[in-house]
Amino acid sequence: CGIFGVTGVTEAANFVALGLHALQHRGQEAGGIVTHDAGTGFHSARRMGLVRDNFTSAEVIGTLPGTIGIGHVRYSTAGHKGQTAIRDVQPFFGEFSMGGAAVAHNGNITNADALRRELISRGSIFQSSSDSECIIHLMARSMGATIPDRMEEALRKVEGAFSVVAMTRSKLIGVRDPLGVRPLVLGKIGEEGWALASETCALDIIGAEFVRDVEPGEMVVISGGEVESYSPFRPRRSRFCIFEHVYFSRPDSTLGGRSVYETREAIGMELAKEAPVEADLVCPVPDSGTPAAIGYSRASGIPYGMGIIRNQYMGRTFIEPSEQIRNMGVRLKLNVNRALIRGKRIILVDDSVVRGTTSRKIKEMILDAGAAEVHFRIASPPTSWPCFYGVDTPEREKLLAATMSEEEMREHLGVTSLKFISLDGLYRAVGETAGRDPDSPQYCDACFSGDYPIRPADMVDKGFRL
Ligand code: 5GP
Ligand code: SF4
Ligand code: MG
Repeated sequence: CGIFGVTGVTEAANFVALGLHALQHRGQEAGGIVTHDAGTGFHSARRMGLVRDNFTSAEVIGTLPGTIGIGHVRYSTAGHKGQTAIRDVQPFFGEFSMGGAAVAHNGNITNADALRRELISRGSIFQSSSDSECIIHLMARSMGATIPDRMEEALRKVEGAFSVVAMTRSKLIGVRDPLGVRPLVLGKIGEEGWALASETCALDIIGAEFVRDVEPGEMVVISGGEVESYSPFRPRRSRFCIFEHVYFSRPDSTLGGRSVYETREAIGMELAKEAPVEADLVCPVPDSGTPAAIGYSRASGIPYGMGIIRNQYMGRTFIEPSEQIRNMGVRLKLNVNRALIRGKRIILVDDSVVRGTTSRKIKEMILDAGAAEVHFRIASPPTSWPCFYGVDTPEREKLLAATMSEEEMREHLGVTSLKFISLDGLYRAVGETAGRDPDSPQYCDACFSGDYPIRPADMVDKGFRL
């Protein structure tokens, strides 16, 4: 998901809509905006679908007055995939003592089932099936003297990955979990305005200046044009999601000061070193494989070409929930550039293999178009474990790499050769020159390694075996 917040500007809703539009790649199922206006109180609009279809008209923006606002773009993760109901769309907003608050959450709360049971047994009334709603109930029950105190108390009970943007009538709050699994950045707008966003690309779109990352385990409270910083959690070594670098973030964002685009190029260069092959043309699976393919081409000296063309009007295939639609999606979205491919030995570069459905279709299209060979190169290690921290991977059994060896996958995908970057190679490409520290890894890489930095308590209760 993507989260965004702004304070100290006129017509906050416009800024939030723009910020969310820039974060649309993080979630396309639904979106919502909450604002507060001194005269008329809180206002909220939540809609299914894209920001550009819902939050650009004066009709909707006009119902969201105020100088402070937050927003959320959603895609459903573990548990309730593809069943987004409007009641699950964030931000969640609640009135309770001290004036109430609205909360937008990116990540996944790993003990949400247990928390929900406990809260319900004590009388909380849940509106949604979302794990994120726990936060607002925990805040409402807290005896803390201020809303930030209550936020602190609530988040100390929550386990998992969370970046949160919240607001009261006058305060904008941003928090990252102690491991800092999901991103969150702070930006400045002109003299008095501040913004919080999942990624820097959302600051660029509103002309805000990037100030810094919100630190893992940090809570920032912005009011009256000032930013205060708190450290509610016991300090720990951070474990940022390495897959944000590989796939999830936009290439024009920076993460921890590193350009995502440059990192992806470096991944491609590393991949060319680790898995060279004689061929005529390096082609990306667009758009997710493009920077890595450019890097592969540069390091190998093999020319780069757009052998597959993407229809710009389709979204990311994996975000469409049902199997049937996903299968169709590939052809709706991608087509081969026959003239370029015919007779050539192709190196096909993509960011990841998940279920293998996209890859199989693409390989078929490329062979149909007359390619002589297809060498598949993947910019991440085999995805053999599900993510429980806010990225939508399917159950373990549906992950190709969980059930097949590399050679079995090659056969299943029907390609001439198949190679994944090594975990150490990926770490080198994100700037860890000595590779992965096995005793204390610098990133979360659980979907590749099975080394889960936060115990997925609800999933273990449901029988998931670590
Ligand atoms: P596959 O066809 O193997 O299921 O999906 C691979 C494609 O889905 C890649 O091109 C990649 O861009 C995209 N993808 C990346 N991350 C994820 C993820 O976490 N879940 C899913 N389902 N697809 C992803
Ligand atoms: Fe990121 Fe993978 Fe960890 Fe999920 S399991 S947070 S996708 S590195
Ligand atoms: Mg892709």
